[in-house]
Amino acid sequence: MITAVLPTYARIDLEFERGEGCWLVTTDGRRFLDFTAGIAVNVLGHAHPYLAEALAEQAKKLWHTSNLFRIPGGEKLADRMKASTFADTMFFTNSGAEALECAIKMARKYQYASGHPQKNRIITFEGAFHGRTLATIAAGGNAKYLEGFGPDMPGFDQVPFGDLAAARAAVTDETAAILVEPVQGEGGVRVPSPDFLKGLRALCDEKGLLLVLDEVQSGVGRTGKLFAHEWTGITPDIMAVAKGIGGGFPMGACLATEDAAKGMTLGTHGSTYGGNPLAMAVGNAVLDIVLAEGFLDHVNAMAGRLTQRLAEIRDRHPSVIAEVRGQGLLMGLKAAVPAPDLVTALRAEGLLVPGAGENVVRLLPPLNVSEEEVGIAADKIEAACRRIEASLAAEKVKGAAE
Ligand SMILES: *Cc1c(COP(=O)(O)O)cnc(C)c1O
Repeated sequence: MITAVLPTYARIDLEFERGEGCWLVTTDGRRFLDFTAGIAVNVLGHAHPYLAEALAEQAKKLWHTSNLFRIPGGEKLADRMKASTFADTMFFTNSGAEALECAIKMARKYQYASGHPQKNRIITFEGAFHGRTLATIAAGGNAKYLEGFGPDMPGFDQVPFGDLAAARAAVTDETAAILVEPVQGEGGVRVPSPDFLKGLRALCDEKGLLLVLDEVQSGVGRTGKLFAHEWTGITPDIMAVAKGIGGGFPMGACLATEDAAKGMTLGTHGSTYGGNPLAMAVGNAVLDIVLAEGFLDHVNAMAGRLTQRLAEIRDRHPSVIAEVRGQGLLMGLKAAVPAPDLVTALRAEGLLVPGAGENVVRLLPPLNVSEEEVGIAADKIEAACRRIEASLAAEKVKGAAE
């Protein structure tokens, strides 16, 4: 019999009762160090008192009014994002996929409003993940996510990630934009060379295309800059954001320059919930902390510490960990064993991590993780490596005996 909740997720059988910073506590009292952080969402960990207070205060006043009326919290948040990024304007959504939907619509509408209605195709990259709506599974191009949901939404042309020449060769008279993650998260924590984004920017400028960045996972401090593209010195025309921006409250946003947004006039887009007062109260509280002096320095210091410990662990356990990759606290361990085995061994040590493509295990701690917690995580990773090595050795002995 089908479960009452549609069975689309392979859920781990753990029930959490509460969270405390970087830790999760199960209903039966077990404590786990949480380097999943809701898949790069809980940038300030669990039950952060400042966020809890902001949410509770707003909840006592006003939850929802719709976008038929002004929402002062949203105007404030947009002003602050405008002051901190390339963007002149932004649209609030409830999720990453919706932020991408807005970005895709905006890119097409820009070309339409510029007198190029035939320019409506978007170049995307292999290994990309942009969400699970019809447009975003077509943009992501992952056959597993597309199967059976056809007809596939047209308008996307996919080329290998990191391949500038292939992107150039894919541009036609119908190309409107290039859509790319500065660092692929779900795809396996793949960090392209800085020249790749710079090259895409130059290509867009040369051909009259918009550069659309998906910073849903890489944004809001995750890589040690407010947004990952800041490491490369270029800026996009449009950017989709979600995950970290709400610190666990469902919210997203599509940011754009004034020029890129020129087609998005009165009545062209909308959302009932997008940018509601509860979300905006939490979003502003997240920004209070992430934009504060020293916050990103802390992220970079913790990333440096974690990277150093992981490199040592890889050197000692090459039969378990093949490679350490990532940027800031968007880290990945490419496993030399099946990645799900490493995830399971880490959980047995009390460390929660998500997997990713390319046989990678992601490490996505809350950004306010302490140096002590980074050390505890590294010790648990080393213990998991020993656990796996012991079972590999036992299998070998067994194999030899047979
Ligand atoms: C998670 C993610 C999305 C989709 O966000 P949802 O909130 O699940 O719709 C899109 N792009 C990237 C890069 C992501 O990591």
